Amino acid sequence: MKYYMPTIVIEEDNVVEKNADIFKKLGQKAIIVTGRNSSKKNGSLNDVIRVLTKNNIDYVVFDEVIENPPIIQCVLGAKLGKDCDFVIGIGGGSPLDVAKGVALLIKNGPDNYMHKLFGRTGDESLPVVAIPTTCGTGSETTPYSVFTDENIKNKVSMKQRIFPKYALLDIKYFKSMPLKVRISTVIDALTHAIESYVNRTSTPYSSMYAFKTIVLFGKNKEHLLEEDLDDRVLRDYVRASTFAGCAISQTGTSLPHTLGYPLTFYYDVPHGIANSIFTKEFLGISEKKYVDTILRLARFNSLDELGDYLINANKMVCEQLIISDLEIEAYSMTLMENQAKLKKHPGKVTIDDVRKLYEESLKNYE
Ligand code: NAP
Ligand code: FE
Repeated sequence: MKYYMPTIVIEEDNVVEKNADIFKKLGQKAIIVTGRNSSKKNGSLNDVIRVLTKNNIDYVVFDEVIENPPIIQCVLGAKLGKDCDFVIGIGGGSPLDVAKGVALLIKNGPDNYMHKLFGRTGDESLPVVAIPTTCGTGSETTPYSVFTDENIKNKVSMKQRIFPKYALLDIKYFKSMPLKVRISTVIDALTHAIESYVNRTSTPYSSMYAFKTIVLFGKNKEHLLEEDLDDRVLRDYVRASTFAGCAISQTGTSLPHTLGYPLTFYYDVPHGIANSIFTKEFLGISEKKYVDTILRLARFNSLDELGDYLINANKMVCEQLIISDLEIEAYSMTLMENQAKLKKHPGKVTIDDVRKLYEESLKNYE
């Protein structure tokens, strides 16, 4: 059994200002990788720029990252930041994932980028500082980066594993999340915990983080749909997300994540919702011991109650989805090709199971 999670996590108010030393140690020039708007509005980008300027650290800003980012954004960022010493990712999972890709391609050059990102070359990357502003992906404590691949019309994970060197968490950056982003990301964290625990590769170490995530979710689940959130609740959601990142950093995710990718690619279903559409039926094909533990920790009386809770929350974000039988067949066949993912499930999974997971889960959204 192995547990390896090298990211230094610092969670405190005004974390960027209080930890200027980190940036000074990492070099003389940084590239900031972020989305188009939110980091400008919630103060995170300004805080970073102020600290870099005060410490005479030069910087460039790549603020083009879009949701479910295409691979090419890593190349564009790497070209802009070619003479940088380190990368600062600010935002949700999308900018944090691109920051990791940019860090790899600056260190190794942007030529032949598909091989560098998706071949197991063992290449190293520049150091990454991750400053999350959504509470779901846990990308600040995972070594993964997920991109949209237009060629295969699906989402793909970078093969190189890059843990951020630092994860800096400040509750104030999360307060501006629109309700739909918060719902989708909190639920993403819950699915990470569930898929990490119900996983052939889980260990007592990874499950410890998964359990804590589920407990924090259960304790605060009545507040998920509230427009104005108490700081205490928001802090629990943020921690749940980072803890779930620690869990999947060891195990990866399982079937619901892969089942959900085509819904995001073809129908723009936000990532967390796309996974959790399948959570109930996924647990339905999982051993009772897993289900009982999850229900107890999350404070649900039955699997139906958990299922209804998720449908209700998901419908705040995604009311209707009409997917044809032909599409379900195509998605199912694609999943069956992903042997690595199928092996994560602690039980045999046939194409009939996968088809049924799609059919039974999507019924609720027609
Ligand atoms: P996201 O795609 O990063 O951002 C979603 C939206 O939220 C964007 O419009 C963004 O605006 C906005 N936003 C972010 N922070 C905000 C804030 N504090 N206030 C207001 N708006 C804010 O969403 P995400 O769900 O965090 O990330 C999803 C991506 O992460 C997917 O590509 C998924 O596959 C990937 N993922 C990665 C891992 C991993 O381990 N690396 C795990 C799970 C999922 P701006 O664009 O203006 O910033
Ligand atoms: Fe996820």
